[in-house]
Amino acid sequence: MKKKTTTDRTLGGTTAWLLAVLLLFAGSVPIASASIENQCFRDARPSMGTLLQVTICGAGAENTRIARRIFARVAVLDQVLTTWAADGPALRFNAGAGGGPQLVHPDLFAVLRAARFWAERTGGAFDPAIGRLLAVWREAGSSGIEPSREVLAEARRQSGYVGLEVLADGTAALRKPGMAIDLGAIGKGWALDTLAREIDMPLGTSFLFDFGGSSYLARGAPPDDRTWRVEIRREDGTSAAVVPLRDQALSVSGALGRVNRVGGRMRSHIIDPRTGMPVEKPRFAIVRADDATAAEVLSTAFVVLEETSARALLNEVSAEALVTSEKGAEWRVGALGRLDRHQVEKP
Ligand code: AMP
Ligand code: MG
Repeated sequence: MKKKTTTDRTLGGTTAWLLAVLLLFAGSVPIASASIENQCFRDARPSMGTLLQVTICGAGAENTRIARRIFARVAVLDQVLTTWAADGPALRFNAGAGGGPQLVHPDLFAVLRAARFWAERTGGAFDPAIGRLLAVWREAGSSGIEPSREVLAEARRQSGYVGLEVLADGTAALRKPGMAIDLGAIGKGWALDTLAREIDMPLGTSFLFDFGGSSYLARGAPPDDRTWRVEIRREDGTSAAVVPLRDQALSVSGALGRVNRVGGRMRSHIIDPRTGMPVEKPRFAIVRADDATAAEVLSTAFVVLEETSARALLNEVSAEALVTSEKGAEWRVGALGRLDRHQVEKP
């Protein structure tokens, strides 16, 4: 799926935002080593509005062929999940909102089932059926004008995962006319899990998939090493921490990731589905989990949720999280290192 990439990063807004930018993290990059450079195959392709970079080791001449198959498969997934392109299964599904169950593309069906599951699990903090609300805030981002109360109320009525039905027979439905799905907070992670499951690789092949510097999936470790490593960077480009990954996934989400100025205020690209408003707190969430779908969904949910609800959720699912707030204060669950100190964690 294509995402809007235009960004208004001219801060100058409130001091809180500026402070947050200094304290919070901006993103992440995979760390390369001499053994990776010499013994692994690395390539990248644009996909889902960003770049998918794959590093594949241990399969010799097969590495290149594996990468080619990965890029071919992800091109299909991109076309299926996009809600930005002129046409495609997800867009057609949105167009049929209110018209009863539709037989959907098998890939779309699978991601909708996962999305419905995670929407329930997160109590709707992650909600794939907020396409209408996102459209209203996207429009506000372009015009710089706050949406009216009426427009927001209408978009809220046309949003919410309870209106997304995923049925057992390969069909799915959006109950109300005007409803729309948006897979921006699940698509990349789900695609990584799908690629890892479907693409045949010889035994002993290890890889790191990096989707846009925000979703990672690692299998095994690079040659001569015990783990893959992903560096978390602060807004000023300095390194905050290095997170090791081995047969694990990592996802980072930030309320400051892509912001728009609306009505003189900075507005996050992440919406709190409970209020229909962009998240106000400049939170940044890092989640490590066994699969990339869980990591990706939870990192967005933890930008939305308060600490108590997030911790309750982490009691039910197997994942580790670290969340920062504007004061630099943070809570964490699991073994993720304290990211306010540069630290290489032991796996
Ligand atoms: P991420 O940057 O991975 O956290 O994903 C954010 C993207 O997911 C946004 O650009 C929207 O397309 C979509 N989104 C925003 N808020 C939510 C939410 N609460 N639940 C599900 N998707 C969301
Ligand atoms: Mg994400």
